[in-house]
Amino acid sequence: MNLQFVGCGDALGSGGRYNTCFHVTGDQVNFLIDCGASSLPALKKLGITRDGIDLILITHFHGDHFGGLPFVLLDAQFTRRTRPLTIAGPLGLKQKLAALMEALFEHSSKTQQRFALEIVELEPQQTRRFGAVTVTPYPVVHGESGGPFLAYRIEAEGRTLTYSADTEWTDTLIPAARDADLFICEAYYYDRVVKNHLDLKTLEKHLPEITPKKLVLTHMSDDMLGRLDQLQHLAASDGLVIEL
Ligand SMILES: [Zn+2]
Ligand SMILES: [Zn+2]
Repeated sequence: MNLQFVGCGDALGSGGRYNTCFHVTGDQVNFLIDCGASSLPALKKLGITRDGIDLILITHFHGDHFGGLPFVLLDAQFTRRTRPLTIAGPLGLKQKLAALMEALFEHSSKTQQRFALEIVELEPQQTRRFGAVTVTPYPVVHGESGGPFLAYRIEAEGRTLTYSADTEWTDTLIPAARDADLFICEAYYYDRVVKNHLDLKTLEKHLPEITPKKLVLTHMSDDMLGRLDQLQHLAASDGLVIEL
């Protein structure tokens, strides 16, 4: 199984990086984690066939994680997709997605797709199975608007991967990512502790409780991007592939 960073940027386009979108593929799985506003061009740039994607998991309703869905759905319509697609995310996904589609492409939320489109709302700590992918959402802490906010612990093909989503430090990240084969974690700042986002120094303090087999930092601000060559950890970049 492979995970490719289609985009690992923040909402501000720091470093010219695309918004958050990860593509996971294996013998039995083909899914996206998040689909930010710039994700369709980012997918096309990497030559990723959208038609093969069965599932899109959304962590929260900020544009850099969720804003690409109307473009991906429009693309599916224009490329005459027939394969069923499931989009799963926090409570409110159905209504938020319809509102976003209407804002970007009027009437598009009412278009009858040629393919079966299922929208699934996920509740914290309730494990769901989507084909060969098992997903457990954990609640995280990322402010007042754009939530609910979910980190995901995902099991597929005998491997476990966790994505923190955007969050300040919260103890739920410990069970969410404990002993995961891959933990993709936000490291927005290096050592500046702020509300709603996580800094690397705080994350490092907790790593002994999490013990991920591999850690990759993502969603970095200019503060972090300016220190990439001094980091002791692997940092995401657009296009990077991690073998799982
Ligand atoms: Zn974000
Ligand atoms: Zn966010």
